[in-house]
Amino acid sequence: MSDQIKYVLDEENIPKSWYNLNADFPTPVPAVLHPGTHQPVGPSDLEPLFPMELILQEVATDRYIDIPAPVRDIFRMWRPSPLVRARRLEQALGTPAKIYYKYEGVSPAGSHKPNTAVPQAWYNKQAGIKKLSTETGAGQWGSSLAFAGSLFDLDVLVFQVRVSFDQKPYRRALMETYGARCIASPSTETDSGRAILAQNPDSPGSLGIAISEAVEVAAKNPDIKYALGSVLNHVMLHQTIIGQEAIAQCEMAGDDPDVIIGCAGGGSNFAGLAFPFLGLQLRGGRSRRIIAVEPAACPTLTRGTYAYDFGDTAHLTPLVKMHTLGSTFIPPGFHAGGLRYHGMSGMVSHAYELGLIEARAYKQVGCFEAGVQFARTEGIVPAPESTHAVRCAIDEALRCKAEGKAETILFNLSGHGHFDMQAYINYFEGKLVDQDYDEADLETALAALPAVAA
Ligand SMILES: *Cc1c(COP(=O)(O)O)cnc(C)c1O
Repeated sequence: MSDQIKYVLDEENIPKSWYNLNADFPTPVPAVLHPGTHQPVGPSDLEPLFPMELILQEVATDRYIDIPAPVRDIFRMWRPSPLVRARRLEQALGTPAKIYYKYEGVSPAGSHKPNTAVPQAWYNKQAGIKKLSTETGAGQWGSSLAFAGSLFDLDVLVFQVRVSFDQKPYRRALMETYGARCIASPSTETDSGRAILAQNPDSPGSLGIAISEAVEVAAKNPDIKYALGSVLNHVMLHQTIIGQEAIAQCEMAGDDPDVIIGCAGGGSNFAGLAFPFLGLQLRGGRSRRIIAVEPAACPTLTRGTYAYDFGDTAHLTPLVKMHTLGSTFIPPGFHAGGLRYHGMSGMVSHAYELGLIEARAYKQVGCFEAGVQFARTEGIVPAPESTHAVRCAIDEALRCKAEGKAETILFNLSGHGHFDMQAYINYFEGKLVDQDYDEADLETALAALPAVAA
């Protein structure tokens, strides 16, 4: 038997619809509120930012929503993504557990993010939009939207968080190769950016600030719309293609996962893998342990408050009820840039409140250690974000070993780390340290949560 077993579906098996967990939640996700009136937002409130099809998906309760045929055609470029049995990792750990990973690094941009970038760009194109604005932290989302924009001839404007703009020139080059324009955030191009620079000309920026800039540009220009790479319901919806494929591939493998794991920044790759399995459970199927893994330096689910909060620093976005560290919280500069967001998807937060999922926070050094072990056994260098899921999968496999249990573990390998080798260099040089967030900063940010009547 070969060491690695790959379960590959053919293109006909790309799902024809997205799965919407909002059809199966026992209680509905709390409504998104208007930042001024604190009343539930209506479609017209969101129209300056998003095309109507995406707004309707944001509030949809249908269980299945058709994937447009042109979007499915583009998915054929890299989907279905492989499900792989990590036999060499299992052997190295000496565990009786079976470990499977769903590999999303096969997409053109190297992560799961094109799964939503492509449909978002397509719906905007259909609505006659010519230009999209967005933000990017680590550069993964910016490059995914830049790729999607290139497919549909849309201009893409990316506000890239200043530290990452300076530290990750290759991600910026990738965005520019796809034809996008990158601006370091905070910038002088928006009121939000200028206000931050007036206070602190050397601001390293944050995802919350970059979102404010991108939203402001869309709100002020009728021909520009905004696109977000995580957190929102329609993003969770688009990512469910991952879990639907995984269900079919687990059937091919003749296995059924007992434990499902994903790293969680805004929650989209985690939700993408987990929600279709959770749907089976809520419709009467077996229950599984489902674990969201976050960085200890930005512990939204495990340390944040479940409350209404803004998605950005300048408070231009609607209020979402979510686990949050406060919209003014700026986490320390650890390497998994895609996990440095103060909030969490409302749907993932709701699932956590209902006790349907578990959450765990890991420090970065142990995650990189797991990432290196994975590279040396399975051959793929994980993105720093994805190493959190790898760490958890290894810990669960070691637990199975200690308990003598032959459980089946499935995790999402959300992306490869080819653009993040500086982080690995730092790790090998012993320069990568575990960073703690400032407890006083967190208290301040949480104290500033908006007051919303229950
Ligand atoms: C952006 C990103 C994440 C975090 O975002 P989620 O919405 O939580 O999935 C995780 N892994 C990779 C590779 C990413 O690019």
